[in-house]
Amino acid sequence: MARGTITRQPAKTGRHEGARRMPGPVAPLRKKFPPLAKPAKGRAPAGKGGAPKAPKYDPLAPERLREILKRLDERYPKATCALHHTNAWELLVATILSAQCTDVRVNMVTPILFEKYPTVQHFAALKPEDLEPDIRSTGFFRNKAKSVVGAARKLVSDFGGEVPNDMEKLLSLPGVARKTANVVLGTWFHNATGVVVDTHVTRISHRLELTREQTAEKIEQDLMRIIPRERWIDFSHQVIWHGRQLCVARSPKCVECPLENLCHAADKTWSTVEIHKSAKP
Ligand code: SF4
Repeated sequence: MARGTITRQPAKTGRHEGARRMPGPVAPLRKKFPPLAKPAKGRAPAGKGGAPKAPKYDPLAPERLREILKRLDERYPKATCALHHTNAWELLVATILSAQCTDVRVNMVTPILFEKYPTVQHFAALKPEDLEPDIRSTGFFRNKAKSVVGAARKLVSDFGGEVPNDMEKLLSLPGVARKTANVVLGTWFHNATGVVVDTHVTRISHRLELTREQTAEKIEQDLMRIIPRERWIDFSHQVIWHGRQLCVARSPKCVECPLENLCHAADKTWSTVEIHKSAKP
């Protein structure tokens, strides 16, 4: 077989069984992303019988985290929010509508919505029922209509009709939790107050063993501890894109993933590394 066409050999974990071997992009990926350093010969501490003992794996080791961030940067250099908007209010509305809905669907609804109601004052003058037909296709439209109209009224009454660049004030708006506030603060104001934790960030943070927490608030706290603050905004966008393109919920495309040899997730579809027994999907 010619050089450059040799496929990577899966680990002997059994996780790969049934997975297709992929020719082509696999060999270059291996060259580009070699496994992280193994212990140097003769310098590793001795285990039983004098055999060198492998260093203890730490998923939060600084060099591993740096490598993950670097590879995300390379794979998603221009990642940003996929929700179309021209101002902070539009982004806030789009983010509220995006709950349990695809960004593509929201982007189909919002142009018509903002043409019909061009300002926050227009929304504040509505009754939630007035808004429901316009946002029906995004799902959960009754609650979303209440949130959007409620947020508009509060912005008009308490904040002069302006979306505040402040976490506490944003959280005082109906229907706005930390995820929505982080999207608006990070994307519109470039204010790194926290990390956006949505379904993609939750799933990938577990797969990469960046957290063992289950609630968005605690996952965010963990990520804020281990990711440098200047990376919070980009990291959120990049992981969300990674979740859409490769690390999808069912059958992640591990063979194409630049993080593959750093990832020990239990539900990998293809692996060159040992899958940890304790690893979670
Ligand atoms: S190797 Fe697979 S499971 Fe791990 S991050 Fe990449 S796509 Fe996700």
